[in-house]
Amino acid sequence: MSYFYDLWDDFISLLFPRLCYGCGNHLMRNEKLICTECYILIPRTNYHLKPDNPVSQLFWGRCMIEQAAAFSFYTRDSRIRKLIHQLKYKGIREVGSELGRIYARTLKSSGFLNDIDLIIPVPLHPSKKRQRGFNQSDLISLGISEVSGIPMESELLVRKTVTKTQTRKTRYDRWTNVEDIFRVTDQDRIMNMHILLVDDVITTGSTLEACASELLKVENVKVSVAALAYSVI
Ligand SMILES: [Zn+2]
Repeated sequence: MSYFYDLWDDFISLLFPRLCYGCGNHLMRNEKLICTECYILIPRTNYHLKPDNPVSQLFWGRCMIEQAAAFSFYTRDSRIRKLIHQLKYKGIREVGSELGRIYARTLKSSGFLNDIDLIIPVPLHPSKKRQRGFNQSDLISLGISEVSGIPMESELLVRKTVTKTQTRKTRYDRWTNVEDIFRVTDQDRIMNMHILLVDDVITTGSTLEACASELLKVENVKVSVAALAYSVI
């Protein structure tokens, strides 16, 4: 029976080829969204194994982060860049949750997630979310939550919408207000928790810093950070 099933499966994939979102090659029967070659060639940082890694160092002297890591190096021609592009600009949502699952397996086996109580994605600007239809960090968080069993909440940290008076402010005023663009919606829900903040690509770390600073205002909260990629472009 399985022989005929496989034959049927092959026939269907001839009609509707399943292609890898990293390289465009045909996927094998046991591959899902990303081919084995792309999976292997994603340039991993292994920062979760090195507490004093370059992503952690971004936050030194800026805000208290327990542990910080990124799955892969984001370079001009890296597979992770192509995959994140498919997610953000082509709207292939499954790529986000699949990459989240892949990263979560690595994080979980190293003990990085042991102490985490809650996963919170970095909120996207509401107008961008409307335009894109989704927040990529929500999908990555969803994948991490599925594998780890740690709950995820995307409504507890939100981006404030810019008011008319704020748009009239000078450039200097806006710059000083950068750290004040996020808001915790229910402080009691996160009290005493160790939160994992999740983002797609880390560049300077300032968005994550702004999010973390807001969460850290709540009593006895600890924050760790995980992103899919660390930009070295
Ligand atoms: Zn591939």
